[in-house]
Amino acid sequence: MWFDVIIVGGGLAGLSLACALRETRLKIALVESHPPRPAEGWDARVYAVSPANAEFLKQIGAWRHLDADRLNPVHAMKVFGDSGAHLGFSAYEAGVNELAWILESAPLSCELWETVRRQSNVTLFCPARPHSLSLDEGGTTLGLEDGHELSAKLVVGADSRDSWVRASAGLTATQTPYDEMGVVANFECERPHRHTAWQWFRDDGVLAWLPLPGNRLSMVWSTPDMHAQELTAMSPDGLSSRVAAAGMHVLGNLCLITPPSAFPLCLMRVPKIVAPRLALIGDAAHGIHPLSGHGINLGFRDAETLAGILAQTPEWQDIGDERLLRRYQRARREEIDLLQYTTHTLRLLFREKLPGLKAVRNGGMALTDRLPIFKNLLVHYALGT
Ligand SMILES: Cc1cc2nc3c(=O)[nH]c(=O)nc-3n(C[C@H](O)[C@H](O)[C@H](O)COP(=O)(O)OP(=O)(O)OC[C@H]3O[C@@H](n4cnc5c(N)ncnc54)[C@H](O)[C@@H]3O)c2cc1C
Repeated sequence: MWFDVIIVGGGLAGLSLACALRETRLKIALVESHPPRPAEGWDARVYAVSPANAEFLKQIGAWRHLDADRLNPVHAMKVFGDSGAHLGFSAYEAGVNELAWILESAPLSCELWETVRRQSNVTLFCPARPHSLSLDEGGTTLGLEDGHELSAKLVVGADSRDSWVRASAGLTATQTPYDEMGVVANFECERPHRHTAWQWFRDDGVLAWLPLPGNRLSMVWSTPDMHAQELTAMSPDGLSSRVAAAGMHVLGNLCLITPPSAFPLCLMRVPKIVAPRLALIGDAAHGIHPLSGHGINLGFRDAETLAGILAQTPEWQDIGDERLLRRYQRARREEIDLLQYTTHTLRLLFREKLPGLKAVRNGGMALTDRLPIFKNLLVHYALGT
């Protein structure tokens, strides 16, 4: 079977790329091992989506189908250092409606999946897994485990951190584990959060609370492996009390509403995200510490950028040509490198126990809070504007 583009991986990055190509002439195959499942109740995997990416989701037609009662805007953010320093951001001061949108992973994945299923230029292969890949001058051929053989001008690896596509194409990735896990869980809170997100740099990691609709919050606690295991093994009441205390009871008592889960954290650098007839997007192309909340935001930007280049390519030009794909790599390189570098440095800076460093990092944070121009720059970078 012949296509223009084969996308391997129907997570948020792969699905959003397929949706973003819906008004093009390109014939797309999407290969996914299992369809997304709706969460029972609230999903513990929650994203802070930047306004620029919310706009992208609107443009590709997914946003309007999301349940408005499950979306929550962030109007303010409060960040605390590990010895009293404080940094505050507000949408009002930045002159924008919101700093981010908080939304659950499962409903967004299911919505994108439905949007792609309705799309006339996409053929879904699911459940399916690839087992052979050949990339040559004339095109690329992907053999599936069920015997199907798909050919195309371009294959896109959107198949996550341990990308099969990346490995099969011989592209290298350097993984630097943080020896930390991201522990995620949702809670009901005693006091209203007033659309505020909170983050604490603590001796035992970085604790973030994201506001969910109603009196609820979503926690991401990036913490050393042993502590993560301890947290996920605690009783619901024990974990609720521990998390409320770690957050200085700013929202009163907490009550756990989803079982906690944990995912391993690592910095992953992929020097080349393109090759002849191949491009990588999403977690297949980069791994970043979640403290800056940029994981999926980078993935959406990859999808938007690649879709823009493919959509503008005239019919006579080969979309698998590496010179064209390098435009995608160049367009993404700066943002990926900058965010990986700053997030990684920030994490190390707050993890380091050297004497005197505590005063330096907290002093830097307090100073940033007093510099409106610098603060505005940070906010606008996070907004993607
Ligand atoms: C438990 C958990 C909680 C998380 N919580 C947060 C959070 O709170 N905030 C945050 O920013 N990030 C969080 N993350 C990270 C975030 O989920 C990822 O950054 C994001 O999902 C990356 O999107 P993606 O589409 O690139 O990859 P994925 O979402 O991983 O999608 C990859 C897709 O490819 C498919 N696939 C993989 N290999 C193959 C194959 N060989 N054949 C066919 N299909 C294949 C998979 O089935 C999957 O559907 C969390 C991750 C986990 C695991």
